[in-house]
Amino acid sequence: MTETLALTGGHPVTHRAWPQWPRPQQEADERLARTLASGRWALSGEWKGARSNEQDFAEQFAQYNDARHCVPTANGTSALVIALEALGVGAGDEVLIPGLTWVASASAVLNVNAVPVLVDIDPETLCIDPTAIEAAITPRTRAISVVHLYCSMADMDRITAIGRRHGLPILEDCAQAHGARWNGRRAGTLGSIGTFSMQQTKLLTAGEGGAAITDDPELADRLFQLRADGRRLATGPLAPRDMELVDNSSVMGNNYCLSEFGAALLIDQLGTLDAEHERRAGNAALLTRNLEEIPGVRPIRPAAAVTQPTYYHYAIRLDLEEFAGKPLLAVCRALRAELGYPVQPSYAPLNHNPLYRPHTKRRYHLSDEHMKRIDPGSYKLPEAQRAHEEVLTLHHPFLLADEEVVADVAHAVAKVRTLASRIPD
Ligand SMILES: *Cc1c(COP(=O)(O)O)cnc(C)c1O
Repeated sequence: MTETLALTGGHPVTHRAWPQWPRPQQEADERLARTLASGRWALSGEWKGARSNEQDFAEQFAQYNDARHCVPTANGTSALVIALEALGVGAGDEVLIPGLTWVASASAVLNVNAVPVLVDIDPETLCIDPTAIEAAITPRTRAISVVHLYCSMADMDRITAIGRRHGLPILEDCAQAHGARWNGRRAGTLGSIGTFSMQQTKLLTAGEGGAAITDDPELADRLFQLRADGRRLATGPLAPRDMELVDNSSVMGNNYCLSEFGAALLIDQLGTLDAEHERRAGNAALLTRNLEEIPGVRPIRPAAAVTQPTYYHYAIRLDLEEFAGKPLLAVCRALRAELGYPVQPSYAPLNHNPLYRPHTKRRYHLSDEHMKRIDPGSYKLPEAQRAHEEVLTLHHPFLLADEEVVADVAHAVAKVRTLASRIPD
């Protein structure tokens, strides 16, 4: 074996140019230019004789998800906040969230003065563990917030059954799973409310953006107001220069509205989402078959009930004994050098996450008792911790490349394993 790791001066496995993300489609220019010239840049701007992009996108995204209602928002975090508010979650209530997720899952709960209760994950899916959910329910639990993480979905059969048994609403955070299906049903329609992020890295994006979907007309009415400072859409006929948002609120809101430019981009991007899913899923399935041939390499496979998989990150669990006992971070660095593409460990669990620091915000100091309840340090999350130490992730754009990308990634993993003893720690 004369090969040398790229990390220590050898030839990398590939010099390929990686697909760009996000990718504007043909119509984006036109739609954005029309919006610029229209004089209506926000849902809260004057009506100009045409429907807003925001309401067009809401209708299209609801239809895409087979949901009755969609309320677009400024970002995924605000979608989570209005979903919790619409469900009546508030001061002192407990919300169960997975211990392995983006920090917004927790901060959104804190932002409604509630207590995020960290629940460990199922090592097979990396999503919240239904057995651990049952164990974490107390008389103060008000909602269960699940995240469909990376390329998986949480076990929605068991979790919706638990919700029914305990009378608890399920909030589905689909920020990483736009368009996924569980036994044929879209992610976000299995619980009471589904939320989405359309931030730059996500599968559907406008740079920043978000949405909440629901089949319940009362929840939809509340969601609408909660993100528009309490305003609703005018129901009567409008004349130019009228406001389309009117002050007839039933609940107090905040301004978390998506701009007309964001909505224009999302309409454009939604048109290619399914074709991109197909391409990513095809490459991912092939890659999984290739990687499973390598000792110590176990790609995370979505559960059998996931009838439409989505890939926000492609995730692989490593038996590091097969990689000369090197730490995951060192293996990630070696792979990155071979591929010229970022390879990262999965999230730090929320009980040890550098982004999750509730004590640094004065607004959360409601009482000494509350501060104790929101202290992440009191949780034990062994499976989330193990995932952080064993599971590496690759962001989705590489799955949009041609089929040869599969051979490149599999080759890089095999090469790094073979030469693992030479990886600098
Ligand atoms: C990205 C993300 C969010 C937050 O969305 P923003 O648009 O960045 O506010 C929430 N939850 C999960 C699981 C995410 O991946």
